Amino acid sequence: MSTTPPTSLHPRLPSPLQAVEDSRFNRHGVHLTLKRDDLIHPDLPGNKYRKLALNLAAATAADHPALLTFGGAYSNHLRATAAAGRLLGIPTIGIVRGDELAERPLNPSLARCTADGMRLHFIDRSTYRQKADPDTLAAILRTTGTENPYVIPEGGSNSLAVQGCTALGEELRGRTDVAAVACGTGGTLAGLAAGLAPDQRALGIPVLKGGFLGPEIRALQERTFGAPTSNWQLDDRFHCGGYARTTPELTAFADDFEDRHGLPVERVYVAKLLYALTALSEEGVFPPGTTVTAVITATDKTPGEAQSSTSR
Ligand SMILES: *Cc1c(COP(=O)(O)O)cnc(C)c1O
Repeated sequence: MSTTPPTSLHPRLPSPLQAVEDSRFNRHGVHLTLKRDDLIHPDLPGNKYRKLALNLAAATAADHPALLTFGGAYSNHLRATAAAGRLLGIPTIGIVRGDELAERPLNPSLARCTADGMRLHFIDRSTYRQKADPDTLAAILRTTGTENPYVIPEGGSNSLAVQGCTALGEELRGRTDVAAVACGTGGTLAGLAAGLAPDQRALGIPVLKGGFLGPEIRALQERTFGAPTSNWQLDDRFHCGGYARTTPELTAFADDFEDRHGLPVERVYVAKLLYALTALSEEGVFPPGTTVTAVITATDKTPGEAQSSTSR
């Protein structure tokens, strides 16, 4: 099996690392840098390039006729898969959670998927929840009418995705003390942590409520590397009520960060990450002299995402 990521996507790698002057860090002797993964590719939002790269290589190497994956109505992963399919000339199928959506006009995120050629299938929520069950998956595949597609799980976090994200850690070797990232499935954190050098640590900020992510990240690392790494932790205090939920405080923080640094702050993931790091710095959690890197997984140009207030 080929493990060479498709260079025809022309990713900008390594992604740029930018220093930021911010008094809320500087006055504690902490250096903040931004790892601009949002600049890797114009059409594959954020960290999704890293997660898809080895999967795309595997799908093409094994001659699968299509990519099939799963997501909610505002999934960045669905959009990234659709864009990759268009750029590489591979048909894509998106299984979307919620059969009621079939009756409605497509939201901007799903409209982008179909504009990129993705065929959408809407399935009811209870079937969607069972999609990991082999019989349910087989039934879903039959309804799409495509034989033998390459199946990528919801959120894109399989072992090849985690493996792909080790490059993010490797790019940060010798460049930072703490590398922090917002977590949905935790696949990015799982790979990032494994790619860092032994003297570096990773910090994950879950954007979903529930506190279920720790065991899932350990399981992803076990499946990918044979054992979990012990160099990461999660801070569960900054989800602001759950996926795509926000608070007036978070909105004010993100608006102010944009004014200070001219960075359009994506609100579903990146705002919570930057808010968390600022709070931790002000709490004095980072010893003076620490360099903290925020992985900027997207900028605020993703259609529809910010307006979404549905919980996952
Ligand atoms: C998907 C996504 C994440 C989270 O990635 P996981 O690997 O699912 O934890 C973070 N930021 C943005 C912008 C994303 O789209």
